[in-house]
Amino acid sequence: MEDETGYLSNEVFGIEKFRLCQEGVCNANLARRDIVCVMPTGGGKSLTYQLPAILTSGCTIVVSPLISLMTDQVLHLDEFGVSAVMLSSAVSHAESRKIQAHLYAMASGECAPKNEVKLCYVTPEKLGQDKNFWSLLNKLYEARKLARFVIDEAHCVSEMGHDYRPHYKDLGKLRTVFRKVPILALSATCPPKVLQDISRTLGLQYPPKRGAEAEPEGTVYFSAPLYRKNLHYSVLSKPNNFADAIKVTREFILNKHRNQSGIIYCLSKKDVEHVAKELASESNGQIRTGIYHAEVPDGRKAQLHREWREGKVNVVCATIAFGLGIDKADVRFVIHHSKSVEGLYQESGRAGRDGKDADCVLLYNPKDADRVFALTSSIPQSRGKLMDILRFVQDFEGCRKIFFANYFSVSAQLSVEEWTTEETAALDPCGHCDNCTRAPGSVKRVDLRLPAWQTLRAAEDIKRCGARLTLRQLGELVRGLGRGKVNVSGTRHKRTKGSITIAMDELAGGKVQLSREETEMLCIHLLIHDYLQEEFVPNKHTTNTYLVPGDKARRFTSLARSD
Ligand code: ADP
Ligand code: ZN
Repeated sequence: MEDETGYLSNEVFGIEKFRLCQEGVCNANLARRDIVCVMPTGGGKSLTYQLPAILTSGCTIVVSPLISLMTDQVLHLDEFGVSAVMLSSAVSHAESRKIQAHLYAMASGECAPKNEVKLCYVTPEKLGQDKNFWSLLNKLYEARKLARFVIDEAHCVSEMGHDYRPHYKDLGKLRTVFRKVPILALSATCPPKVLQDISRTLGLQYPPKRGAEAEPEGTVYFSAPLYRKNLHYSVLSKPNNFADAIKVTREFILNKHRNQSGIIYCLSKKDVEHVAKELASESNGQIRTGIYHAEVPDGRKAQLHREWREGKVNVVCATIAFGLGIDKADVRFVIHHSKSVEGLYQESGRAGRDGKDADCVLLYNPKDADRVFALTSSIPQSRGKLMDILRFVQDFEGCRKIFFANYFSVSAQLSVEEWTTEETAALDPCGHCDNCTRAPGSVKRVDLRLPAWQTLRAAEDIKRCGARLTLRQLGELVRGLGRGKVNVSGTRHKRTKGSITIAMDELAGGKVQLSREETEMLCIHLLIHDYLQEEFVPNKHTTNTYLVPGDKARRFTSLARSD
């Protein structure tokens, strides 16, 4: 088998050597196993099903979320003389009828093996909704001409994944209807919870097994380390106001990446436009910005891609809509304002595709937490994700690579003996992220128990008054800016509406000089560790987030009091 795949990959695709876990996945495919394969973007996932597709009788059905990506693949396969087709809304009725007739001919045995369609790409919408297509699949199944289902970007199945597509849920039917057809799920971002969700939906075994453990049946798991050593991760402190934040961004780009290609991911369409405009004018046109978000008309998007490729635009300001299908190889930096670790990882996947060095910088100001809360308060599971990204940005010591390895690795579910050498190596510090390269002694350890205690006491007192404080208000109170008086909104008692006075004696005694940012970071730290918790109050236009004492607050404040 190995010889055959090796020979073919060279002959058909001009590839000399398998990469990462390609060979294992190809062989497991040929053995008709269910497979989960997690490989970094650009790792070579396509080959893992294209090669087996050519080697097996019948048609491999590939579900993929993006039409432009499928078009590329079909053209590419065509160049190599492999018969591949695509069914989607982008295909004309006539063309679609022709393709389906060809597949029907395969099902009824009227098609010579050498004329078989080897790969059929479909969108999840097509698969989920088109009854004709289902009956065609049924015919192929009965004729044993359904070779396998490939679910590309499988994390789209899970609402916990960062790129959820409702139609991917329909894919659950594949296993129940076509019991014997193997499924291959592919993804580049698949933390354990998402994997569990995908497995449940697609009817795969969880936890998946690998190596000898996976014999003789069940779902086989393959993963390649997600770590890309040419990406340098760092968190950069973002000033409080917009104008200063633009200056920091401008300096970073002009000092380190003048005239190079980059992407700035923003949290909203409004931000995209604002940042693009200000950055261009603040740099006197030295930074040539373009914009991309869901509401930019298709024609303009195509134009942007073109101008970016030609270098007329060097920095694209975008929402996450600027994602799948970007294949510019020389993206030298990505600046993020991410809402989740998956988002951050996926966005940074677009940097350094050519293997050369690239910077992935997360701009962080603790007050962003407030905004992200407001943006995600209605989305299930968003809390845990926000806490994870806050843990990432507020970590000044841990290697970023190790953080990602722990976050995404499914190996946590497997015993240590089963870890591959790459996985064990994934827990070695990278040596080139911001935390690895920080000068020794540049991270000061300060005892913040007193301000922490003060913060929690203040939060408790405020709560007792029936009021609530935002992150900013709590921070100001603790820094003593309100001289014991704070303006409080959302007060339940009329008498205390407007402003209230709380006991600040303890605060006055041991005043700690923390900046606004430091105080807010302390609050976030308390939030991450359940000493504080957030409370959402819908407002006319938005949702306000307040910080109230959390589960562990009482333990700490009462303990400190009796000390
Ligand atoms: P992914 O889907 O994992 O992002 P692709 O399948 O698109 O990645 O592959 C990325 C690039 O790497 C493609 O240009 C592909 O031809 C190339 N490639 C894949 N496998 C190999 C290999 N074993 N040797 C050399 N090039 C490869
Ligand atoms: Zn590191």
